[in-house]
Amino acid sequence: MIPYGRQSISDEDIEIVKNVLRSDFLTQGPMVPIFEESVANYCGVKFTIAVNSATSALHIACLALDVGPGDVVWTSANTFAASANCALYCGASVDFVDIDPLTYNIDIQNLKYKLEIASRNGTLPKVLIPVHFAGQPADMKSISQLSREYGFKVIEDASHAIGAEYLESKIGSCSYSDITVFSFHPVKIITTGEGGMALTNNPKVAKKIRQLRSHGMTSDLEDMDFRPPLEIWNYQQIRLGFNYRMTDISAALGVSQLKKIDHFIGQRRKIALKYNESLSDLPVVLPFQSSENLSSFHLFPVRLRLNAIKRTQKEVFFDLNKNGVAVNLHYIPVYLHPYYQALGFKPGHCPNAESYYREALSIPIYPGLTEAMQNEVIRIFTNAIL
Ligand SMILES: *Cc1c(COP(=O)(O)O)cnc(C)c1O
Repeated sequence: MIPYGRQSISDEDIEIVKNVLRSDFLTQGPMVPIFEESVANYCGVKFTIAVNSATSALHIACLALDVGPGDVVWTSANTFAASANCALYCGASVDFVDIDPLTYNIDIQNLKYKLEIASRNGTLPKVLIPVHFAGQPADMKSISQLSREYGFKVIEDASHAIGAEYLESKIGSCSYSDITVFSFHPVKIITTGEGGMALTNNPKVAKKIRQLRSHGMTSDLEDMDFRPPLEIWNYQQIRLGFNYRMTDISAALGVSQLKKIDHFIGQRRKIALKYNESLSDLPVVLPFQSSENLSSFHLFPVRLRLNAIKRTQKEVFFDLNKNGVAVNLHYIPVYLHPYYQALGFKPGHCPNAESYYREALSIPIYPGLTEAMQNEVIRIFTNAIL
């Protein structure tokens, strides 16, 4: 079975993890700050906080921006549920912005329209969470301009997009946002097993996220409400936090994986270019490629032109799986999940995201996909839709 995505683990990755297992620290130890510093250098950002998943990072990023009951958070309809769940964890409510039918990222016109209405009704979002879908950067310039105009904060859900570039800067530099979040889940660009990171240039936000990662505790005397009675008692809980720490085992794997990121993205790009050439005559819409930005090519979503294909999306999906190509569907619009429909969301809320969802399939793209395997995918895919 050829999966749609898969991690690439080398002997060096295994060696560095083995060394940690033999060392004094398994939980957060010396490798975590080394990993944090290497990502900060790579992305050109001041502060990085490693955590145990992007989901955790999104949660404490929202808390660090004071999201709470009575607040509203907006995100893209075309994303993984975690981009929206983080708002609900904080007791806030959530709403969805439709996607641009060309890029599958948040549609700026729809965003403007919703903001105008929300402004009149006094229901403006506190935070907007744009998603760089498939690794293709969202229109951050417009988003950041609107954030100043309407007074909301921005968290980039860059779970797909470490290594991607927006205009002159790396995704993660937070040039157009308050916080950026990465995921290091095995299907993503680099992996730590499970893992995530929050990035920011704001020292106060960074400090708060760092405390929330570990029980809301601080060992920094200047942050303590009162001087500890015993000088040897050197930490205090000053807010309600969590155990979202990354292990040193994971961080070591991250350090090793990050060294190969440009190679990984190069491989992904090569695969994307070959799909673009080989599938261009088929009745499908290939993913948008910007000439200004660099995608990290996390996913390769193709849209089936169903009226030309005469087969249903479901038939194509099962045909590919039956023939050894494990395609996937990214994403069911979040608000169509039963949990969200029970909150009152109804089909039709974001028409572009829904029609995309009815036609899309993500075909395999990952560094370990060999040329022979890709040829096989192309052959099976072509047979499935013709
Ligand atoms: C994978 C993913 C997440 C969650 O990442 P975890 O590290 O698995 O928690 C969040 N948002 C998007 C867009 C993702 O693709």
